[in-house]
Amino acid sequence: MDNSSTPASNSEAVGSVTSLKRKSDDVGWEFCELAVTNDPDKVKCKLCNRVISGGVHRLKQHIAHIKGNVASCQKATPIDKAKCMQALLHQKKKKEEKREKLQELQERVNISEKNSNEVEILESCTTPYSLGPMDSFARPISPADSLVESRKKLRQQNINDVLFKKRTSEVHAYLARWVYESAIPFNDVNNDAFQQLLEAVGQFGPGYIPPTQYQLREPLLKQAVETTKETVKKQEEEWKKSGCSIMTDAWSDRKRRSIMNLCVNCKLGTTFLSSIESSADAHTGKYIFDYVDKWIEEVGSKNIIQVVTDNASNNMAAAKLLNEKRPYIFWTSCATHTLNLILEGIGKMPKFKFVIDKSKELTIFIYAHHKTLSLMRKFTKKRDIVRPGITRFASSFLTMQSLLEKQENLKYMFLSKEWLECKWSSTAKGTKIYSTIVSQTYWQALSMCVEIFKPLVKVLRLVDGDWRPSMGFVYGELKDAKKEIIRICKGAADI
Ligand SMILES: [Zn+2]
Repeated sequence: MDNSSTPASNSEAVGSVTSLKRKSDDVGWEFCELAVTNDPDKVKCKLCNRVISGGVHRLKQHIAHIKGNVASCQKATPIDKAKCMQALLHQKKKKEEKREKLQELQERVNISEKNSNEVEILESCTTPYSLGPMDSFARPISPADSLVESRKKLRQQNINDVLFKKRTSEVHAYLARWVYESAIPFNDVNNDAFQQLLEAVGQFGPGYIPPTQYQLREPLLKQAVETTKETVKKQEEEWKKSGCSIMTDAWSDRKRRSIMNLCVNCKLGTTFLSSIESSADAHTGKYIFDYVDKWIEEVGSKNIIQVVTDNASNNMAAAKLLNEKRPYIFWTSCATHTLNLILEGIGKMPKFKFVIDKSKELTIFIYAHHKTLSLMRKFTKKRDIVRPGITRFASSFLTMQSLLEKQENLKYMFLSKEWLECKWSSTAKGTKIYSTIVSQTYWQALSMCVEIFKPLVKVLRLVDGDWRPSMGFVYGELKDAKKEIIRICKGAADI
């Protein structure tokens, strides 16, 4: 669909204004310049020097002698008048065309009508609502309240199930088209705001006119900022009531810039406070301490219970400095990072390191060559081996689990005729990989390794989710995991 045609009156307020002349081919600019830099709303008529509020659109009305909004220009020649008049008419026509196009699009929307029994529940009409005086007494649009309620109602009222399904699939098709054409990520349908939007439009009824790009960019955005500020204000009150945690982390972005960010978490949720860009070598303990300490002041040191970071040595150094200055604030290590370190630590024990190394070697070999990769996919019925990411240990675990699941397929692959015929089977590397695959010791050790890591990975998953703070359960879960690992090890010793 064509989104490029913004109404001219809107686009005037948009864009960069760096000088008194604007980058625009609007004919109005022949007759005026900006009265002040950076304010596209105030323009000065070059003919009579009058300053006009309302931008170039109003200026054209001034020149064209269109009465109502602005005094007419006394210096404008008939030619000037005609020029501006023509531009205004053209603009008006474009706007009308746009409105017509929208109307036409809306008319083409065709959702099956309900039968007469259901008309009372939700009046089905294809003409846009015209709002009358009674509408001020009607219920305001409030999707959150009515989402569940309206669904219940629809069910209760014995709606014809077949028609219900039909209407749903018709709306689905419109939605899907938009998702595909605009490349909307599929998981966005789970977004609460999206669900509420649909409900709000449904409650509005036919004929809803969506905001223009300008409205989204300016007034609606400002409105959203205000709403966000309100939310934050509520959280700030909560900080004072029940305390909060400060969380900070550093990472490198795609341009290899080092970014440090700082968030505050309380019962009501997490708020982003600040981020700074700094060179990686500047991340000393003192640097982190200064940054955190500044924000502790800002948030109010009395409200802060703890500071949460990962276990990197610079953070530990910062923790020491903070403890000296503010001994009553805890410095807590991030549970996810700690668990990753535990898993990595266990992975370095010789018994496990051997299996992990062999598994990596095997996966890398398969993925390094076209032939081996396509063979693997053939034997696993197109299922891939989950491959490790760069840092996180959990992904190594997933790789091992994935290999274990495909044990049979992989054995078949390396015993197949295709493998024997493949040039890699006779190489030193290939022979080595082959001996891993046929080694019962390897598979047994791999299975053991996965079993032992499983309880800890389970805890890792629990703490890695954003859905609830881990402080309350992490100790108990770790204790359980420990017991489980001991049980598995004992079982293995019995064999
Ligand atoms: Zn004038």
